[in-house]
Amino acid sequence: MSRVFHLQAHDAQLFDLICEELQRQTDHLEMIASENYTFESVMEAMGSVLTNKYAEGYPSKRYYGGCEVVDRIEELAIERAKKLFKCQFANVQPHAGSQANMVVYHALLKPYDRILSMELNSGGHLTHASPVSLTGKHFQGFHYGLNAEGWIDYEEVLRIAKVVRPQLIVCGYSAYPREVNFKYFREIADEVGALLMGDVAHIAGLVVAEEHPHPFPHCHVVTTTTHKTLRGPRGGMILSNDAQLASKIDRALFPGMQGGPLMHVIAAKAVGFLENLKPEWKTYAVQVKRNVQALAQVLLEHGFELLSGGSDNHLLVIRLKDFSGKDAQLALDSAGITTNKNSVPGDTRSPVLTSGLRLGSAALTSRGMQEADFTFIGNKIVEVLNNIHDRDFHARTRGEVVAFSKQFKTYDVPIF
Ligand SMILES: *Cc1c(COP(=O)(O)O)cnc(C)c1O
Repeated sequence: MSRVFHLQAHDAQLFDLICEELQRQTDHLEMIASENYTFESVMEAMGSVLTNKYAEGYPSKRYYGGCEVVDRIEELAIERAKKLFKCQFANVQPHAGSQANMVVYHALLKPYDRILSMELNSGGHLTHASPVSLTGKHFQGFHYGLNAEGWIDYEEVLRIAKVVRPQLIVCGYSAYPREVNFKYFREIADEVGALLMGDVAHIAGLVVAEEHPHPFPHCHVVTTTTHKTLRGPRGGMILSNDAQLASKIDRALFPGMQGGPLMHVIAAKAVGFLENLKPEWKTYAVQVKRNVQALAQVLLEHGFELLSGGSDNHLLVIRLKDFSGKDAQLALDSAGITTNKNSVPGDTRSPVLTSGLRLGSAALTSRGMQEADFTFIGNKIVEVLNNIHDRDFHARTRGEVVAFSKQFKTYDVPIF
């Protein structure tokens, strides 16, 4: 490292911790489906002087002076977002995906209105009106699940919707390995007079590459994160095609819910969107899906059961029998492979244990890994799970995993 870092001089303790984290990100295999390795250019924008600026409000309608430059930055982010998602309105200010969802509810619903969404255990998100989330306290959450094989049963969703009569239906998930049929969901929403929100937090990177069906024109409003498959900075965004709805959303965000926008993150979102708009992005998204297929093939060949039998996107979920998702996660962790446990339909184990394990390919694809690499990793996962209680074996595997992982690039420096 030839660069001199101010942090190193001023706070060596914290600097060392960041260096340690870069080492971890380089040594291990990141298979948490919601994570990714963002671009150096994105991190440079995030580490910029823009963090100093207060800009409450929207471009040319700010509550502070000196916003002429950040106005242009936010306008650039909005223009790129609209181009990327082929829509007319974008609010790029949500601090994260959770805030984006809360803003939409705040904009479109009254307290105690009914939200129909996927239950948490089947792949829904906390902010889809789960009882433990503020969204489930301010609104009434009703939920659909998956059928026994792990698929959405659209007729069942319609049946529940007719009983619940929700004001808003939410589709788009955190652990669903199949395509979401936004068109069916819109038919259901229209039939019961509900609005439809598509939460593409997980699949956005595939959507913009046309590797997953598009939520528009079916959804009235679309929310997303920018840091999962989109590979941008940690953040959220709200998209729509209706001027009235968009203005309600803008007001619900500010002054309704958030204060000053994170201008450094909004700039980084713009940088990320530019990457997403390049032809190379399609290649990345295609590779993400191919890599999951290679992984699924190894697991299936070795007798593991996958929820819904496979995957159409960037993730898969293994249904475990003899041991819990927690045991699997811990064993793989010791072997240098980072994953997360996940509840599955009809799970007999508690949410602390679970009977599922979720694996995603987006992060490792960003490091340049391809099908053969995922076949290698799949075999390592199989070996660890087949020796779930052999700690020495996990530790030996870790050595192989670290040596393998180090061949692939992460970052040259810990700070940008
Ligand atoms: C990750 C996720 C979110 C929330 O995003 P945060 O940035 O963690 O707040 C919302 N919805 C879905 C479906 C997600 O997977």
